[in-house]
Amino acid sequence: MKIIHVASEFSPFAKAGGLGDVTFGLARQQVQDGHEVFVILPKYDIIDTSKFESCEIYLQNLWSYEDGVEFHNTVYKATYEGITLFLIEPHHNSYYFNKGLIYGAINDTERFLYFCRVTTDFLNHQKFSGFILNLHDWPTAAIIPLIRFLAPKVNESASSIIFTVHNMEHQGRIHPKFLSRIGLNGADFLTKNKMQDPQSEKLINLLKGAITYSDQIITVSPTYAKEIQTPEYSFGLTSTIEKFRTKLHGILNGIETNTWNPKTDPYLAHHFPANSTYIDDIIAQKKKNKKDLFNKLGLKPKGKGPLIICVSRIASQKGPEMILQAIKTTEKQGGSFILLGSICEPGLQSPFMKAYETYKDNPNVHMCFEFDEELAHQLFASADAIFIPSKFEPCGLTQIISMRYGTVPIGRNTGGLKDTIFDFSKQNATGFIFDKLSASCVDDTLDRVFEIYKHDQTHWKKLMQNGINRDASWAPAAALYEKIYQNCNVEEIKR
Ligand code: ADP
Repeated sequence: MKIIHVASEFSPFAKAGGLGDVTFGLARQQVQDGHEVFVILPKYDIIDTSKFESCEIYLQNLWSYEDGVEFHNTVYKATYEGITLFLIEPHHNSYYFNKGLIYGAINDTERFLYFCRVTTDFLNHQKFSGFILNLHDWPTAAIIPLIRFLAPKVNESASSIIFTVHNMEHQGRIHPKFLSRIGLNGADFLTKNKMQDPQSEKLINLLKGAITYSDQIITVSPTYAKEIQTPEYSFGLTSTIEKFRTKLHGILNGIETNTWNPKTDPYLAHHFPANSTYIDDIIAQKKKNKKDLFNKLGLKPKGKGPLIICVSRIASQKGPEMILQAIKTTEKQGGSFILLGSICEPGLQSPFMKAYETYKDNPNVHMCFEFDEELAHQLFASADAIFIPSKFEPCGLTQIISMRYGTVPIGRNTGGLKDTIFDFSKQNATGFIFDKLSASCVDDTLDRVFEIYKHDQTHWKKLMQNGINRDASWAPAAALYEKIYQNCNVEEIKR
């Protein structure tokens, strides 16, 4: 199959969160499964092109359009791990992708709508035939109406257009004039059956457009596929999801098992033993990593409690109040806590800075507000447990990565956390699950964690072992994606 992904992130070159892991991991698995795989990505200035196996100019002058003006773009062709990437560099007076970031510019709407328009023009120019087009999240959503209404040849030659929803919260609610800027008449789409936002009738909703005009919709876990059919999780799109329910599928993400491999991880000084699955050998290596980590961060914990980590975007989705609660309780109970979190919402700056001030000289607590890939790997390899109190979690990757690194997940009973963490009280348990986002529920859960960690190491080791034994690879998910691409009988995975 010829598969073309279009995305705003691709790990390790352009990663802000799980989306980057997913586009790379899925594409790489599809290459291994014998497919011809392409990824179209903006050529952000933060991409280090020297890390590609090759990277050269492919098209010098690709013309595209915005607001009545034609702009030219250079397309680079790069290869990485068997994947062919097309990187789009606009020669545009707004320097859309030269801002030192992926998201967070004041004109993100214009930046990604322009990317959608150039990508459509690129597909039109290339005259690919018989390909699967897989788009990811709101930054690529406008490509579907653009193809359906402005690019008849692409529309005809694409065998199927698939839209993967990684997060329903971010929908691209925009004034119709922004759609008009890229060549679609925004006013025409402002109807209930098209792209009108269900909550603000004067706005266009890009995610709704992608759901409406795609052939199939995939979301990233079976539980999230069910949850987004309810008002609590659909962020206003319940009736749209309900209308297109028959084309919705929930497929649990995998992780890229070469990148996330504790036996070879280049960021670690002490690897898990290559030929032993004996848990005590693994624990011995984890202890060495933990010692190095404590030295690196200047921590000197005295208590006998576990090291609990949190590696996360700091956003309301991720249960920020509960993260602060867990730090407080862990410290009080004689454990240590390391938070690695990138603050994504201005309103969360103040409570986390306050907490930073409280704990900055505490030998049991460390808080780092950077995006630090190396530290993330070292945390997964050193910790005893990871805390993930999400309000909603489409899939969540940190619990999947953690289990592979022998770190026990403590997560809220939602989305992909529910699908991957089996509570201590159940058979084949891999961690701890809790229901409520309340301080008392977090404290009760941490009581259970401390109790097992301190007094029942046999069971703790079993949790670790079950997590390590789990198949975290992309292979099962990629097989399901393939079925959907083929539009074959997918009843068994329909939600
Ligand atoms: P989301 O995509 O909602 O941010 P996921 O759990 O699906 O959450 O994926 C998060 C990914 O981003 C993981 O690979 C995690 O290790 C990484 N990550 C999150 N925050 C940071 C950070 N501050 N530094 C380094 N890596 C991070």
